Amino acid sequence: MNDALELLRSEPALWVCVAVLVGLAIGSFLNVVVHRLPKMMEREWAAQCAELSGSEPEAQPTFNLATPRSRCPSCNAQITALQNLPLVSWMALRGRCAACRVPIPMRYPLVEATTGAIAGFLAWHFGFGPVAVLAFAFCATMLALALIDFDTQLLPDSLTLPLLWAGLLVNIWGVFAPLQEAVVGAAAGYLSLWTVYWVFKLVTGKEGMGYGDFKLLAAIGAWLGWQALPLVILLSSLAGAVIGIGLIAAARMGRSVPMPFGPYLVIAGVIALVWGDGIIAGYLKLMG
Ligand SMILES: [Zn+2]
Repeated sequence: MNDALELLRSEPALWVCVAVLVGLAIGSFLNVVVHRLPKMMEREWAAQCAELSGSEPEAQPTFNLATPRSRCPSCNAQITALQNLPLVSWMALRGRCAACRVPIPMRYPLVEATTGAIAGFLAWHFGFGPVAVLAFAFCATMLALALIDFDTQLLPDSLTLPLLWAGLLVNIWGVFAPLQEAVVGAAAGYLSLWTVYWVFKLVTGKEGMGYGDFKLLAAIGAWLGWQALPLVILLSSLAGAVIGIGLIAAARMGRSVPMPFGPYLVIAGVIALVWGDGIIAGYLKLMG
């Protein structure tokens, strides 16, 4: 074990390769989380509603992240362990179900490849050690949140809240920010968007974002400290404006179509994690 760790420490290229492979496998798991977590939440709500109205909740087969095994949505063929291999199986099967040849959406291998690329980049950027692993845990959770928000306009508490606590715990050792700045960051992250939400609602009568967004920015504040928040808000607003205007122009959709803010917070949070210090230092130099 120690020998293996010593080898990874002394061979940066090997460390990056291992990170990419682990990233691909976790990307495959993220696909399951993104697909199933919203459905699990819906079932929970339905069960709670049934309980409140006094009716017997419907008995349903077990449905969680591990059960049932993945099946082809078209022909119901079970996906074998070998076919679950990220990317490799998709390419071997040329993007089709092995049983019925129905095309598998590009999105699955794309998420796997993106997660692998992020893992490799973080391993290279932070070098061998726990900081890279923690940074990857942060980014992988953020990626799952972005995709779920994009699909369903939901940011599940079961992801945002553990992410927040994890950020505070990690910064007990000041990994990404001193603990004091992390605690203030969590509170300030929540309160800043909460304030924007209420001002926006009082002025326009509309809801611009949801409580999940406040919790997500609280989690980002817990990981990166309060100093990162202005940059995160600025970057996410910029990304939201650029991508949002692009989407509206491309799809000619009305401005009333709900556009989740979470993915922009995620993009901004990840940029701030990797380049935040450099951007802020560069800005201060420019101003000074
Ligand atoms: Zn099939």
